[in-house]
Parts: sequence; structure tokens; C-alpha cells
Amino acid sequence: MKGEETIVIDDTTLRDGEQTAGVVFTLEEKKRIAIMLDEMGVGEIECGIPAMGAQEIESVRALMALDLKARLITWNRALVQDIQASLDAGVRAVDISLSVSDIHIEHKLRKSRDWVKEQLKRALGFAKSHDLYVCVGGEDSSRADLDFLVELMTIARQMGADRFRFCDTLGVLDPFTTYAKVAYLRERTPLDLEVHTHNDLGMATANAVAGVRAGARFVNTTVNGLGERAGNAALEEVVMALKHACGRDPGIDTRRFVELSRFVAGASCRPVPEWKAIVGESVFSHESGLHADGVLKNPTNYEGFDPAEVGLSRRLVLGKHSGSHGLSHRLRQIGVELGRLEALDLLERVRSFSQRNKRPLTDHELLVMCRGYLAQGQF
Ligand code: MN
Repeated sequence: MKGEETIVIDDTTLRDGEQTAGVVFTLEEKKRIAIMLDEMGVGEIECGIPAMGAQEIESVRALMALDLKARLITWNRALVQDIQASLDAGVRAVDISLSVSDIHIEHKLRKSRDWVKEQLKRALGFAKSHDLYVCVGGEDSSRADLDFLVELMTIARQMGADRFRFCDTLGVLDPFTTYAKVAYLRERTPLDLEVHTHNDLGMATANAVAGVRAGARFVNTTVNGLGERAGNAALEEVVMALKHACGRDPGIDTRRFVELSRFVAGASCRPVPEWKAIVGESVFSHESGLHADGVLKNPTNYEGFDPAEVGLSRRLVLGKHSGSHGLSHRLRQIGVELGRLEALDLLERVRSFSQRNKRPLTDHELLVMCRGYLAQGQF
């Protein structure tokens, strides 16, 4: 594994995220997302596809006008006209994407590897003649011949490209294979690598992390894992996984993850499930007796990180699996003091209420239950 270099997050919520079937952001939403990402310390924002036309060019221009610290980069096919559109939009960094797997070369492009190399040279030559920062994007890298990728990366590097994007376009890799492939490329060329992963098999985050561990210095993410089909690697998951599972802090202000997630969920009309890793509403809810007891004694017993770190808060839920410690704690919070035997009686009542109603109790329901007891002397 290569050394502990700084990891650069390239968030593509505004490009691959918006490419999700049915998702459209207004310009105001794009601006707000870009500003939040920038304030949180994201180093690079992939912000659109100028080749789409005048409206997209205007939108990229407006984002450039925000004068953010983050580098704005656009997505382009390996065509001079696409890169010209990016120049027209005023950006100084481009991703130049080309299909690199034989499957795509033969069945999508109906061309040859040599043709792909020529496309790369022409597009990259044009971009470099305009002094652009260039990421060469290898579409379908995961199914490509690795030695062909080395060949492309070597050409790219000789012509002044700044990095190569290894794309698991279809989300078909596992973390072990991702690691092996990225490490293979890393060993054979000094060109910086980026990983772009998709979640079709539920492994986008794991694959992104594996790519970083294999030496990729750049990693593509989207907020909430928005993106084509099953989505991309989620920004909040990749950052927290790097930080907590790998001890590699990408330097992002994680405390705004929930705020950012809620905003993108609204703007994309893609609600976040309450159990979604890192930002789901209920990922710090504890109900079961053992867990609630453990958390009350010391949160680190059952929380891998402090909920405040991502802008969430802990919740103790009273329901079918609750225990007496959790119940007494909640009762004290709502100002009710019960003896131990009374609390145990009440616990039975709480559990059966939850069983019957298939949900936890609200504070109000708990209070009503307690009042009934105090009035009648029994439950
Ligand atoms: Mn993609």
C-alpha cells in the first residue's frame, strides 16, 4: 500500500447525482449544494456536462462565479467539441471520459483499442493546449484489460494528464478485486488514481475505500449515494468509513452531513431511508434493553462514533424490546419517579402496547399510561 497521502474527495452529486433517472436540480439548488460541499472542505466538485448545451454552460458559469475554494471540474466525452464547451463555461479542470473495456469498445463504440488511444491523444492534446487540469476517465475500467489501462495511463501521463479515473461503471466489483486492480495500476504507473464506484451490488462505499487503501488519492462520491441506477459511493459513508475504519481523515466537516443529506434528499426528491448509514434519522436509536442500558452507562458501548459528529442525536425508544433501565431513564426525563417494582409493572405494559401497535410509544402515551397508574394505584 502506498503512503498516507492526502485524500481528495471529488463529489459528483451535481453530475452523476443529477444523472440519476428522474432527478433534476434547479440552479439555486446546485449553488447551495456546491457552497455546502465547499464549506465542508470537499476539494473538488464535478459540476456538470457543458456539452449538454447552453443552459448547462450557464449553470457551470454560475457555479464558477461563486468563487469557491473547491476546484470545479466538468464531465466530457473525449471530444474536442465537449472540451470546447467546458472552456466556454469557464472551467479550468475537465474529466475526459472514454470507454476502455473491450466490451464497450467492440459493442458500444464498434471501434478498436487503437481508435480509443487516438481519441485520447486528440482530446487530451486539445485540453492541455488550453492548459486545463485533466482527469482521464476510464469508463468501464473494472471490465477492461489492466495492461491496456496501463498503456492508456502511460500515454495520458506523457501528455500531461493529471490523473486517471478508474470507474466501476456497472458496480460489478468487490472490494478485494478493486484493491487488486487499483494496486496493479498503482505499481505500474506514477499517474495519480481516482476511484469511481457504483452501488449495484451494495459495495460502492466498500469499493471506494478499497481503492483508496490500494493507493488511489482521489475518490468520487455523491451525497446520499445518489447516482445512476443503484447510485454511487455516498460521500458521508466514504468519509466516515475512511475516518473510522481506516484511520484516514479526509478533513471534511462531518457535522453538516445530516443538513447536507436532508437538503439533497429534498432537492432530488429522493427521501433518505431512516436506517441509511451515517445520516438516517434512526441510526442512533436504541430500543433493546441491553443496548439502551449499555448506551446509558457509556455511549461508546454501543455507538461506533458520536452522533453529533454527523449532526444527529441519540434517541432511546421505548417498545417491545425495552428494559427497565431505559424505561426509568425516560420516566425521569418526563418528570415521573416510580419505584422499581412499579417500573417493572409498567415495563410489561409498555412492551405489550408496542407488540399490539407494532411501534414504540411516544412520550405522551407513556405519560398517559403513568397517569392511569397513579390515579388508580395500578396499571
Ligand atoms: Mn458513474
